[in-house]
Parts: sequence; structure tokens; C-alpha cells
Amino acid sequence: MAHMIVAGNWKMNASKSAVTELLSGLKDNVASVSNAELVVFPPFPYLAQAQAELMGTGIRIGVQNICAQDKGAYTGEVSLVMAKEFDVSYVLVGHSERRALFAEDDSQVAAKYVATQAMQLTPILCVGETLEQREQGRTLSVVNGQIQAVIDAAGGASFAHAVIAYEPVWAIGTGLTASPKQAQEVHRAIRDHIADVAPEQARGLKILYGGSVTVASAEELFAQADIDGGLVGGASLQADSFLAIGRAAK
Ligand code: PEP
Repeated sequence: MAHMIVAGNWKMNASKSAVTELLSGLKDNVASVSNAELVVFPPFPYLAQAQAELMGTGIRIGVQNICAQDKGAYTGEVSLVMAKEFDVSYVLVGHSERRALFAEDDSQVAAKYVATQAMQLTPILCVGETLEQREQGRTLSVVNGQIQAVIDAAGGASFAHAVIAYEPVWAIGTGLTASPKQAQEVHRAIRDHIADVAPEQARGLKILYGGSVTVASAEELFAQADIDGGLVGGASLQADSFLAIGRAAK
């Protein structure tokens, strides 16, 4: 298994033709990435296309959100059972845009995390502070609080089958990136927090950095001891830049 994960969150971007172009660019050049598992997170309507195009390439598929219920009267929602039919491996839970724009709270995020693991899929738990929280010196308490909600619901040992993405809210889609030192500090604190309850799982846990990662910033970020890859938004929409970020994983 590759040491690093480089995941591309397409958010609500794409079209059939853009997806065709992006996936073929990824497929044609995936061999140039040797030390990162690549994962793409297309919007739901493009899952079938991603499944068909990426079969046998080693590029994994994830979904950006999920409903914690299996089936029933949940208009507009998509279940894990459905996602699994499209060879999905990963599920983003608690992305800051879900928390801020769709009012997802820690208990809903924890329920999605638990449901994802119950279906033998891997949650990528997204955590991060706002600019205001950072300026108030509350970064670590906010981030550890978001993680604690999941520990309370699922236990520390659950991190054997999960990934965390630290994404400072002020760095998402803004062009601002946490410095490698700032990011490493938080990643280390996250690992230490989980180690308090699950030391072995904390050691093996992959913690990705997200927030305006670019080809230029990736290499130094990924060189930090506790950074195990990236969750990439904007730069994952072009095959060239996404693959170059994948190659920055050494
Ligand atoms: C994201 O939303 O997960 C993200 C990191 O976006 P961007 O890279 O565009 O800041």
C-alpha cells in the first residue's frame, strides 16, 4: 500500500465532457505517480463514469457526502449501499462546507463515520478551525473537539479504518495555505490526541492536509513528519496538476 494518499475533491464541479477529459488524463499518466494512492471524489451523477473508466487503474473512488440511513424516505439523499455499487472506497465526512453550508454538526458527522465503517468503507474525517478560532488561539481545542465527537461515538480503535483530513477553513478555496510548520503542528497534535486512547492506531493513521494545496506547495507539506498526503480541491480538477501533486509525495 502506498505510503501517502492524494485525494481530489471535485466538489460541485464537472460535466460529462469535463469528467471524460479529466479521467482520461488521469488514466494515461497514473503510472507517473509512484508513492501515493490517488482517490477522486466526483459528484454522484458521475460515479458510474468514474467506475467504468478507472477500473484496473489503481485510482480509487470516493464520495463527497453520504446519508447515514440505509434506505427509505430520505428525499434527495444517497446511501452507502448505493455508493458501494459503484466501487466506492472512501467517504468524506464532515467537510467544512457540509458543516457550514448544510449545518452538519458533530453528532451527524459521527453518525456518518460510524455508518461508513459499518459498510466496510473508509471515512475521511475532515476537521479544521476557522480564521476567528485560530486567531483566538483555539485551533487545537476545536480540532480535537471535532475528533473527540467521533472517539465518543466510535471509539479510538476505529481509527485503524479511517483517515483524517486537517483542513483549516481559512485555507480552503482561498489560495491561502497553512505553512508546513503550522500544518505539522496540528497534525502532530491530532496524532497525539488519538494516541491518548489508541496509541497503535494513531501511529498508523494517515492524516492528510487540505487547503489550497498546489503543485508548488505540495512537496514541502508532504515532507512533514505527520503529513501523509493531501485532500486537494481546485487543483484536482486538472489531470496535470493533480498528478503533479501526486508525484510530490515522496
Ligand atoms: C477542499 O475543499 O477539500 C479543499 C482542500 O479545497 P481547495 O484545495 O480548493 O482549497
